[in-house]
Amino acid sequence: MSSTVWRNWSRIESVTPARVAYPSSPDEVVQAIAAARADGLRVKPIGAGHSFTGIAVAPGVQLDLRNLQGVLAVDEQRHRVKLAAGTHLYRLPELLKPHGLALQNMGDIDAQTIAGATSTGTHGTGHAFGGLATQIVALTLATADGRVLEISENSNPELLDAARLGLGALGVLLDITVQCVPAFQLQAIEKPEPLAEVLAQWEQRALGADHFEFYWFPHTQTALTKTNTRLPMDAPRKPLGGFQRWMDDDFMSNTVFNWVCHVGKAAPALTPPINRLAQRLTNNREFTDVSTSVFTTKREVRFREMEYALPREEVPDVLRALDRLITQNGWRISFPVEVRVAAPDDIWLSTAHGRESGYVAIHRFFKEDPHTYFRLAEQIFRAHGGRPHWGKMHYQDASTLAPTYPRFGDFLAVRDKLDPERVFANDYLDRVLGA
Ligand SMILES: Cc1cc2nc3c(=O)[nH]c(=O)nc-3n(C[C@H](O)[C@H](O)[C@H](O)COP(=O)(O)OP(=O)(O)OC[C@H]3O[C@@H](n4cnc5c(N)ncnc54)[C@H](O)[C@@H]3O)c2cc1C
Repeated sequence: MSSTVWRNWSRIESVTPARVAYPSSPDEVVQAIAAARADGLRVKPIGAGHSFTGIAVAPGVQLDLRNLQGVLAVDEQRHRVKLAAGTHLYRLPELLKPHGLALQNMGDIDAQTIAGATSTGTHGTGHAFGGLATQIVALTLATADGRVLEISENSNPELLDAARLGLGALGVLLDITVQCVPAFQLQAIEKPEPLAEVLAQWEQRALGADHFEFYWFPHTQTALTKTNTRLPMDAPRKPLGGFQRWMDDDFMSNTVFNWVCHVGKAAPALTPPINRLAQRLTNNREFTDVSTSVFTTKREVRFREMEYALPREEVPDVLRALDRLITQNGWRISFPVEVRVAAPDDIWLSTAHGRESGYVAIHRFFKEDPHTYFRLAEQIFRAHGGRPHWGKMHYQDASTLAPTYPRFGDFLAVRDKLDPERVFANDYLDRVLGA
C-alpha cells in the first residue's frame, strides 16, 4: 500500500516508507518480509511510535501491526497471557479483567504496544521489580529467512534473553506471553518534600516502598514524591473524584502545563518563578485505585526525553551535578527531571542488566532545542556509569555502548545468525549496534 509521512510522538523523527503493510496474520507477516526482501527493501515493524529515537524509522517496508491485537491464550493456573504483538497496553485492563489479572508493573503511560514497549526496555519504578521485558516468558519471532521461531524456557531458551529486549533487530515479534499477577490496587501518596532531604535519604526511600519515584522541577529545591503501596483488590477503594482527577491530571498536567511551556519558550526568564509556583500549587494527595489507573497518566504536552540507567547509589550525585549544570549555564528548564528505580535482571541489553538501577530522565518541551542540555547532561550520566534508554534520545554509538553491556557481543552474535543481511536494520540500529 502506498504511504504518507510517518512521525514519532515527539515529532523529532519522520520518514516516508517505500510502502506500508498491514498484516493481519502471522503468515501475512512472513509474506511481507519475503516480499520486501524480493524487492531489496528493509523491513521495520512499528508500535505506537512513542520512542524518542529513530529506532522505529522504516524507510523501506513499514509493518503496521494494528491488525494483530488481542488475547490469544490464557494459562489461568500460571497467570500467563499470550498477546498478539500489536496489542496496545491501554487495552490490557479490559482484556485481562475477565481473568482477574494485571501487569506486575508499568511505566508512566499506556499508549505503547506490547512488542514496541518491551523491545526498547520500557520500565516503571520499584526496587524489587524489573522492566516489562522481565515479565515476558515466551514469544514467537518471524525471522529474515522466513522461519517462525518459538522462544521460551523450553524452546530455543538461549534466545530468550536476546529476543525479549531485541531493539527490533532480530525479527518481527508475532506474539508475546506475559507473566501476569492477580489484579491489585495501589495506594498512592503524592507530596512535595525538600529535595535535599530526599537525596540524603535516597537509598532508604527507594527501598522503603513498593514503587517510589520523584520529580524535581529545575530552579526549585522541592521533590514531588510518589510512593505507591500494593494492596489486594478487596482493600477499600478510594479513587480520586472525577473532578479532582480532571483538575490534577488533565487540566493542570496537560492544559496548564502546555500554557506554561509556551510562556517559558517565549519568555525564558519566567520559567524559574513559574516552576516555583507550580510546585507550590501541587497538591498533597492520597488515593487508592486499581493498579493501571495509578501507574499511568495521560501525557498530552509533547516533549523530548533522555533517560539514563545508573548504579542506584549514583542518583543523588547525578541530581546535584544536573542542578549545577543548569545553574552554571543559566538555562531555563520548564520540564521536570524524573527519578525512578528498578531491580537488576539478566536480559542482555537491559539497562538494568546485572545491577540495582536508578533512572534519571530529563525532558525538554518539543518546541525547544534539546541538544545542548542533553549533550552536557549525558556527560554527567556517562561519568557515573550510565546506560541510555534505547527508546530515548542519546548520542552514543556501538563503540561506547559495548563496554557497558557484558553480553553486548553475545547479542551481536545472535543478530549475525538471525539477520546476517540486516533486513531489520535502520540508521539508528547501524549506529548503536554497528552495521
Ligand atoms: C509520553 C511518553 C512516556 C513514556 N514513558 C515511559 C516510561 O514510563 N518508561 C519507559 O521505559 N519508557 C517510556 N517511554 C518510552 C516508550 O515506552 C518506548 O520508547 C517504547 O518502546 C515505545 O513503544 P511503541 O509501541 O511506541 O514502539 P515504537 O517506538 O513504535 O517502536 C520501538 C521499537 O520496537 C520495535 N517493534 C515494534 N513492534 C515490533 C514487533 N512486533 N516486533 C519486533 N520489534 C517491534 C520497533 O521496530 C522499534 O525498534 C515513554 C514515551 C513517551 C512518548
